[in-house]
Amino acid sequence: MPYRAPVADMLFTMTHAAGLSSSLYPDLADGAAEAILGEAAKMAEGVLAPLHRVGDQKGATFANGTVTTAPGWPEAYRRWIEGGWMGVTAPEAHGGMGLPHLLNAGCIEAWNGANMAFALAPLLSVGAIEALVAHGDKQLRATYLDRIVSGEWAATMNLTEPQAGSDLAALRTRAERAGDGSYKITGQKIYITYGEHDLTENIIHLVLARLPDAPAGTRGISLFLVPKFLVRPDGGLGARNDLRCGGIEHKMGIHGSPTCTMIFGDNGGATGFLIGEENRGLACMFTMMNNARLSVGLQGVGVAERATQTAIAFAQERRQGRAPGEKSDGMSPIVAHPDVRRMLLEMRAATAAARAICYMTAQALDLAHRGETPDIRRGGLERAGLLTPVAKAYATDVANEVSSQGVQVHGGMGFIEETGAAQMMRDARIAGIYEGTNGIQAIDLVGRKLALSSGAALKAELADMSALVERLRAAPAARMGSMPARIGAAVEALAQASAHMTGTLETDPAAALAAATPYLRLFALARGGSALAALALAEGDSGDKWLTLARVYAQNIACAAPALALTVCDDARPILAAQSALAGEP
Ligand SMILES: Cc1cc2nc3c(=O)[nH]c(=O)nc-3n(C[C@H](O)[C@H](O)[C@H](O)COP(=O)(O)OP(=O)(O)OC[C@H]3O[C@@H](n4cnc5c(N)ncnc54)[C@H](O)[C@@H]3O)c2cc1C
Repeated sequence: MPYRAPVADMLFTMTHAAGLSSSLYPDLADGAAEAILGEAAKMAEGVLAPLHRVGDQKGATFANGTVTTAPGWPEAYRRWIEGGWMGVTAPEAHGGMGLPHLLNAGCIEAWNGANMAFALAPLLSVGAIEALVAHGDKQLRATYLDRIVSGEWAATMNLTEPQAGSDLAALRTRAERAGDGSYKITGQKIYITYGEHDLTENIIHLVLARLPDAPAGTRGISLFLVPKFLVRPDGGLGARNDLRCGGIEHKMGIHGSPTCTMIFGDNGGATGFLIGEENRGLACMFTMMNNARLSVGLQGVGVAERATQTAIAFAQERRQGRAPGEKSDGMSPIVAHPDVRRMLLEMRAATAAARAICYMTAQALDLAHRGETPDIRRGGLERAGLLTPVAKAYATDVANEVSSQGVQVHGGMGFIEETGAAQMMRDARIAGIYEGTNGIQAIDLVGRKLALSSGAALKAELADMSALVERLRAAPAARMGSMPARIGAAVEALAQASAHMTGTLETDPAAALAAATPYLRLFALARGGSALAALALAEGDSGDKWLTLARVYAQNIACAAPALALTVCDDARPILAAQSALAGEP
């Protein structure tokens, strides 16, 4: 089943859940959004999707310090950068298109739906562009930025070390002042996506490291730009820097994406250049990570969409049993069986809800950059902060759940690699782990984001959802069914759980952390359910596609919200005080 980028669904969601036709987006008016997304879809379907399988089967390989990507990868990369796709949101002054995050969200979804392992390479380069635009000095921007924006050079993100994964305070990579304004970097990084490859002649590593006199913990981390090849004053490539790839990992999925061990400083230290200020590196890296977190959420949406498309196509072909009401003697296509219909519709509805949350987050980022007044920009930034962990964690959880359901729809064939359903499930698994595990996203939501501007961001989000519930209640009852009641209950449950969570954070932080993941899920169900309901209202009498998805989501998925609120508000002692139940031996 070939992947098709769902451009019409993307545009509908952008318009009715994320303000595409508002004054925020003059550059996307008059069919511009449709035209650009159409081109991105062509790239996804025609160039990237055909390499999905070969990426999985052949993967990237490592020999003698070099990494060779899967057959067809370099040519696809060349065509991708010829389209200018690396610079969708990058400033025009650096060769980018300067377009909004909302539009880019659709592009990222399409490319990842087509080929997640390929699309990971630009995902990190785009994050590096953001970090350099925000924190790089004039010299760094002049030397590197245009060539990363054009895609001529790729960029990476080097955070993780064997002892420093979720806890970056533990990182040990060292940076010493070289005396000429540059630094010498020494240490080892692991799991570095596209740390080495044959797609570009130079690779620009953004590396977190610690200066000798740095304070302990996260306040003593600095960010450095460390190129694979040093750049001469005339812009040409100079000497090879003192860094190398020590090997690549053998993984469960995304085989086309090389996951590298990077070794810096075998011969006295790799030359690095400071980005931002000394000891302020984590703040700079967060510019990149927040961008990358939304992009990883969009990976989730892309994979979930592809898994749904594949499962629906299979269910229309495969015949087994007789569906209720089937008059003929022959077997029915399995899509006619109520339980299979339920699976497929849950898959499509969850994907649509995750898409809406991600696009809302992108719109908030656009408000933060383009909003007319400082107040609007601040509000946008806070909303983006609040929604980013929800978008990342929920959309990637949806990718895991939906791709697993996709395997289920295929029956035994789902477990056989031939159909591709298994690849999507294997590929999706990492998205809940990297860019901050989903557990860390939940802790971020609860520990940092609920308190944004004394809870104002949360309050605004709840008010927005409550207003939608009022609109649902005023809509024709026969058409809406139980949706107003279910979404109303979900929003109420979120309000209640949020009040409890805010109080518990003060009195018993451990109890709040124990409930962080159920709280994030509850947040997503209320936010995703109300967004889908808004799409159903926008559809009006013109059809019933969005109404169906919104009702399925409300009845089968968002209805879990009140139960999650019970979990959030319950006694955390069974989890916090558990001893024997966690003992190694049964
Ligand atoms: C394929 C792949 C690609 C990657 N690409 C990159 C890359 O390009 N650059 C890069 O720097 N890194 C990359 N990573 C690393 C990735 O970001 C880390 O694996 C991830 O952040 C988790 O760190 P960890 O593996 O050390 O797990 P750990 O931090 O050991 O976590 C293990 C478990 O404990 C939980 N946990 C840990 N700390 C806490 C806490 N304080 N509270 C609650 N729960 C906690 C986690 O949620 C998780 O469930 C990649 C990893 C993989 C597998």
